[in-house]
Amino acid sequence: LFQSRFPADLSSPFIETDPFINKDRGRIYSYADLHETSGRYARLLTDLGVRKGDRVAVQVEKSPEAIFLYLACLRAGAAYLPLNTAYTKAEVAYFVGDAEPAVVVCRPESEPVIAEVAAKAGVGHVLTLGQSGDGSLPERARGLDPDYATVPAEPGDLAAILYTSGTTGRSKGAMMSHRNLGSNAQALHRIWGWKPGDVLLHALPIFHTHGLFVATNCVLLNGSGMLFLPRFDLDRVVELLPRATVFMGVPTFYTRLLSDPRMTPDLCRSMRLFISGSAPLLADTHREFQERTGHPILERYGMTETGMLTSNPLDGDRVPGTVGFPLPGVELRVVDEKTGEPLGTDGIGIIEVRGPNVFGGYWRMPEKTRSEFRPDGFFITGDVGKIDGRGYVHIVGRAKDLIISGGFNVYPKEVESVIDAIDGIVESAVVGVPHPDFGEAVVAVAMRRPGRDDVTVDRVAAVCKEELANYKVPKRIFFIDELPRNAMGKVQKNLLRDEHKALFA
Ligand code: ATP
Ligand code: MG
Repeated sequence: LFQSRFPADLSSPFIETDPFINKDRGRIYSYADLHETSGRYARLLTDLGVRKGDRVAVQVEKSPEAIFLYLACLRAGAAYLPLNTAYTKAEVAYFVGDAEPAVVVCRPESEPVIAEVAAKAGVGHVLTLGQSGDGSLPERARGLDPDYATVPAEPGDLAAILYTSGTTGRSKGAMMSHRNLGSNAQALHRIWGWKPGDVLLHALPIFHTHGLFVATNCVLLNGSGMLFLPRFDLDRVVELLPRATVFMGVPTFYTRLLSDPRMTPDLCRSMRLFISGSAPLLADTHREFQERTGHPILERYGMTETGMLTSNPLDGDRVPGTVGFPLPGVELRVVDEKTGEPLGTDGIGIIEVRGPNVFGGYWRMPEKTRSEFRPDGFFITGDVGKIDGRGYVHIVGRAKDLIISGGFNVYPKEVESVIDAIDGIVESAVVGVPHPDFGEAVVAVAMRRPGRDDVTVDRVAAVCKEELANYKVPKRIFFIDELPRNAMGKVQKNLLRDEHKALFA
């Protein structure tokens, strides 16, 4: 990937002094800085004995230096393994034990704890990196020669191991090759029409595929700059939008932006593209955002194991509630859950994909890997969806969230859509909980708009009864202030299922 930053067809001529990362309220890092710092870090890793295929596990706050460390790993032939900053000691111990990295890089303040974890796992080196570029990693790299000869990489070589979000169970380590990352970045760069001088406003975490690969790799391929926020901060995003042309967010970023009266067409005057992904964007949010700013949000769909898979078009209809068309090079089919037979237009089934973007397997889980691939090489995503008559892909939910009540399949999304459309409801989540007669019972949890206590359980139940077949109507309905979500804005249905598991016991 690092080498692919210099192909002949690069859209913008690359100038060393061009800004790469504009750190919020901090300094500007140029592409020359990228080369030098990633070169020094790569040198240090190599000096520490890191060789091709070795893992470098990294749990640090978001900083330009963390991006340079990612690139240093690619240059040194190592696999970059970022960890969610929220992981506890026990969780880090699991991931470090599982990945057996050659080096662990952590926050300076967590060094004592992580050193203990690393020692138990037999890791040779623990380095630190702080949010302001401090720590033993930059210190030890400071005097080293920045002219580092990048270790040549084959397309199939391991570039990174990214752990999935753990929405449906324990996180799995997805092995991503240089080909996976490079092909996906190139496809996204092309279809989203990246232009010389584009400026990305980057407010996502960088331990996840969205902020690390989708966002950063597009900027790198484009040879342009990004405004780099340590996290999503409503005021800072509003203040910086007039200097940006592209924004990427999870759906909760957009609902938070909409809650702010400063979101106007004028504020977005320099913007070219708003992109959403990682969780379903409500059709309402899409419409409201377009009314308020004039911009139809471009929704795309992907996952850790595959990078991005589909995208609404840059030119053409961005249809709310859909995730658009398969990316160039990505084959996508919807198959019957039981028979595996491909389904026709509007047939609801499991989404399967194949392409240069699809990962090589789960780290040290050969059985699991085998069971998630078809013999013809298609990866079984576990997402349920359909392809409509115009070729737009719709995500209906996850196979694991499917509810079977009295022998009938209930797709939570169908019930959620009915509830979400009720005036005064913001959003809902529908789950199945154990039921002695039906196997599973449908339970709905809904968020009301502030001050809309007039929307009652009876009202929601009445609308569901009117619009849905009896077996789909929730047996119980609850109101909640906020749906539980993880760092990527995904609703954690497992928590809701847990909370209500004894309802009918
Ligand atoms: P785990 O696999 O550990 O249970 P996860 O699937 O949430 O966690 P990720 O790889 O971060 O981990 O997320 C990918 C999933 O996110 C997809 O499989 C899909 O269910 C969901 N997703 C991503 N983008 C969209 C979107 N635009 N609309 C609906 N769902 C989306
Ligand atoms: Mg998943």
